[in-house]
Amino acid sequence: MAYQIPLSFPVFEGNESLYVQEAMNSGHLSTNGFFINKFETKLGRKIKTHQVVALNSGTSALHLALVLLGIGPGDEVICQSFTFCASANPIVYLGATPVFVDSEKETWNMSPELLEDAILSRISLGRKPKAIVVVHLFGMPAKMKEIMAISEKYNIPVLEDAAEAVGSKVDGKFCGTFGKIGIYSFNGNKIITSGGGGALISDDAGVIEKSKYLASQAREDLPYYQHLEIGYNYRMTNISAAVGVAQLEQLDQMVARRRKINLQYKELMKDFPGVTFQEELDTSESNYWLTSILIDEEVTGISNDKLRVILFKNGIETRFLWKPLHLQPIYRKTPYYGGNVSEKLFQEGLCLPSSSNLTLDQQEYILGLIEKEFRKVF
Ligand SMILES: *Cc1c(COP(=O)(O)O)cnc(C)c1O
Repeated sequence: MAYQIPLSFPVFEGNESLYVQEAMNSGHLSTNGFFINKFETKLGRKIKTHQVVALNSGTSALHLALVLLGIGPGDEVICQSFTFCASANPIVYLGATPVFVDSEKETWNMSPELLEDAILSRISLGRKPKAIVVVHLFGMPAKMKEIMAISEKYNIPVLEDAAEAVGSKVDGKFCGTFGKIGIYSFNGNKIITSGGGGALISDDAGVIEKSKYLASQAREDLPYYQHLEIGYNYRMTNISAAVGVAQLEQLDQMVARRRKINLQYKELMKDFPGVTFQEELDTSESNYWLTSILIDEEVTGISNDKLRVILFKNGIETRFLWKPLHLQPIYRKTPYYGGNVSEKLFQEGLCLPSSSNLTLDQQEYILGLIEKEFRKVF
């Protein structure tokens, strides 16, 4: 069903069609072409000094990043439990095991305290983790200062899953540029899109060079096809990059618009009892890809799911927050460190429509419906 008000709809108000036509005219549709380089340069300049490899998805960027961090069979990798499955699945692709860590209540991302507990526990079992996958959910930066300090203390590299956090910052520095490697997603529902796409970011020129090589079938620079390693077909196409370049030109606006939508939701809901928001720390700036709320059923008298169904019947798309990975059937036997913070977020949370072109009228309409449900209780 097509929603009257979708959760996160792509907005094309710039040079998208023009650049796609240009890419088609050039005859370079696949993994060669002008727009791929342009996308990498432009994104690199935006996030400052870091080097970028354009890839065909955020998931392939995560997989490649783990390969570059040397993850292999029998290794353990710490991963935030409260996230989309793509943060952890590539660990399993490589024959390694995720070790899940719970969230903290402020940013809803990985708890630095529990991270350190998990590291110490795994070390005591003789299984020192090889990497830490941190996620900035819904665009909200994780507590990077604390997490990077732990990474340095134990000498375990951080892989930053900034798939949802293109344009988010901590202390003025872009999410995705803190870890040894960072990744972005440009999937169709993210804050900016290239259709399908991703990027791998690192300050390490060796990592960047090797990523480009492995993402292009590990082809040697010879007149014939020769391969010394197993590679992947993970590069972004020129057509995708054409859309991506046009979207990058509008990134600042998209962030500003989503931040404004978030502010308006907070303003409009400030007198709603039993509703709380995901909040920024003083030092961080979320792109507010999705505005998310928690609904305390004891106060509101209505669960997140009941509210979701009512909004659905009115053509409004909302979504549960991520179901924690340690509760997923596929990860039932996976080690987990934490309590019930992410579980509670899952039970109470709802992502509200947050498209960059959402209007104030639409927000008022949505909140009118929510208020009516809440009022039945009082
Ligand atoms: C979207 C997303 C990914 C995967 O990105 P794709 O481009 O869809 O492969 C990974 N991690 C998180 C947290 C995401 O939201």
